[in-house]
Amino acid sequence: MATSENPLNFGSGPSKLPKEVLEEAQKEFLNFDHIGFSITELSHRSQEYAKINQEAQDDLRELLSVPNNYKILFTQGGGQALMSAIPLNLMKKNGSADYAITGIWSTIAADEAKKYGKVKYVFPESEPNAGIPDRSTWKLDKDASYFFYCDNETIEGREFPFIPDTEGIPIVSDMSSSLMSKTIDVSKFGVIFAAAQKNLGTAALGVVIIRQDLLGKAQDICPSFLNFSLLDKANSILNTPPVFSVYLLGKVLKWVKRNGGLQEMENRCKKKSKLLYDTIKNSNGFYKCPVQNEDLRSHINVPFTINNGDVKLEEKFIKEADENHIHQLKGHRLVGGVRVSLYNSISFEEVKILTDFMYKFQNENQCKSISCS
Ligand SMILES: *Cc1c(COP(=O)(O)O)cnc(C)c1O
Repeated sequence: MATSENPLNFGSGPSKLPKEVLEEAQKEFLNFDHIGFSITELSHRSQEYAKINQEAQDDLRELLSVPNNYKILFTQGGGQALMSAIPLNLMKKNGSADYAITGIWSTIAADEAKKYGKVKYVFPESEPNAGIPDRSTWKLDKDASYFFYCDNETIEGREFPFIPDTEGIPIVSDMSSSLMSKTIDVSKFGVIFAAAQKNLGTAALGVVIIRQDLLGKAQDICPSFLNFSLLDKANSILNTPPVFSVYLLGKVLKWVKRNGGLQEMENRCKKKSKLLYDTIKNSNGFYKCPVQNEDLRSHINVPFTINNGDVKLEEKFIKEADENHIHQLKGHRLVGGVRVSLYNSISFEEVKILTDFMYKFQNENQCKSISCS
């Protein structure tokens, strides 16, 4: 059961971290590694931070099986900083990039990229938000500097079920909400990036995995602190990095390793999302997924509406969940509804408590609403 001492937190980001990670950080907070003060008070040029920085890179490389011809970089700022950094580092002067639009985050990324070069849309523009249209309708530009897609649209709950075939155009993927939730073949990508506050740790940090040959192409106007080549040369200690976020990332990665690595995270994620989707499916339409195509439903962020988008009932659901110590269920402000995020720190048992609450709520509310037929 969820209690005030042990509440559930299904937030989409910043989101729940493993309790062990928080406890370790708490234990070390006033006196890190016997130095007598906190990691947040220590120079980023210290030996201690050099070790944290290196171990986090090494653990990422090990967990994701990152090939040797890829570099791992840590940047200041999260997802949106990187949506600017990508065109600034990769788009050729007067060049263009291909963008696959599957939701709000990829739209934001494309709008940001337009400031620095030409954006071409891969999918038929008449249906920008319809999901992933048939491959035969895609328009690829063989001269594009890169092909951008968002692996998991956190707001709509739509996940790419495959790595797109781009006929050799380097693939850039925003994996802010999906990195560390499944095994991936890094060698298929030019760049993978993620903001850390979902599955990796806490805010203000970006993680970039980049194929070496894509370095050294930055536009002149690219700010130095976001310049991937400069970051690479400085081993991500170019200016003051977000030291505490990198430190927490390191602890999260060790937790993932202790808990069975990526394959185990993927298995857990599938099991948790199946329980939730089955609950929705068995609700006789009381709960509904906005993503119709089951193949595109996210294993990490599960949005749903209640009684065909009955706003009053959705508010009641969220309020009663809060009273039952089940928190952060409100859908994104742009789409409304309810959203459940199932990052690695969330256990199957916690999802079971939520689905039990969903059954109970349905029984109590199904035929009391005006719009109920
Ligand atoms: C959360 C998220 C972001 C976050 O961007 P910030 O600038 O760190 O707030 C970017 N992309 C995706 C897919 C996300 O889920």
